[in-house]
Amino acid sequence: MANDLNARLIDAAVAAIEANAEELTKLDQAIGDGDHGINMRRGFQAVAETQDELTRLALPQALQKAGMTLVMKVGGASGPLYGSLFMAMGKAGEKAPTTLEEAAAMLAEGVEAVKKRGKSEAGEKTMLDVLVPVTGRLMDAAAEGSEVGTTLDALSAAAREGLESTREMQATKGRASFLGERSIGHLDPGARSSQLLVDAVCEVIKEGAA
Ligand code: ADP
Ligand code: MG
Repeated sequence: MANDLNARLIDAAVAAIEANAEELTKLDQAIGDGDHGINMRRGFQAVAETQDELTRLALPQALQKAGMTLVMKVGGASGPLYGSLFMAMGKAGEKAPTTLEEAAAMLAEGVEAVKKRGKSEAGEKTMLDVLVPVTGRLMDAAAEGSEVGTTLDALSAAAREGLESTREMQATKGRASFLGERSIGHLDPGARSSQLLVDAVCEVIKEGAA
């Protein structure tokens, strides 16, 4: 049986990247080398090309495969980092999470893999400034027994706040770190792509729950 959730997640992620690729590139032109939109588009297009295969897999296996595709197809730093995120999330469980606890554990594994791969932490003006607070918010929601709908809204808000927090940060990892203090005053492109992806996933889950 085709896995409808996988298909909807791929469609939403690809659409979000497509619609915002130019903005991602512009953000990267300001503090990097101007290829983040191109990198993300290439990576997610390649994932979309494997859609038939991905929809025949359980979510964890599909995530692992999509992660491998990103590592292989994206030249920039973001490919291996998003690849690590997806692969580690896929390795975290046997099946798609059915509780907030399971979802939080899965995301936490992915974020740990990004930290390891990037030798980075939150506060360095990267995608982690979105992914770490989103994971924290999801863990809180799981601990509090929050409703799914409320949780999804809280995750989107955490992603948005995390993205905004990168504006005043000085980059200490990735290409933007070469700018030193001149990196201050700009949003981080990888934080924006992470926020877009978090929002896309939240929308899909919300629609599924409706
Ligand atoms: P490149 O920097 O190789 O051109 P991209 O432009 O595709 O690759 O991606 C840049 C984004 O990758 C940054 O905006 C940042 O969010 C993220 N990034 C770069 N280095 C790291 C790192 N060490 N840890 C976490 N994220 C990183
Ligand atoms: Mg770049």
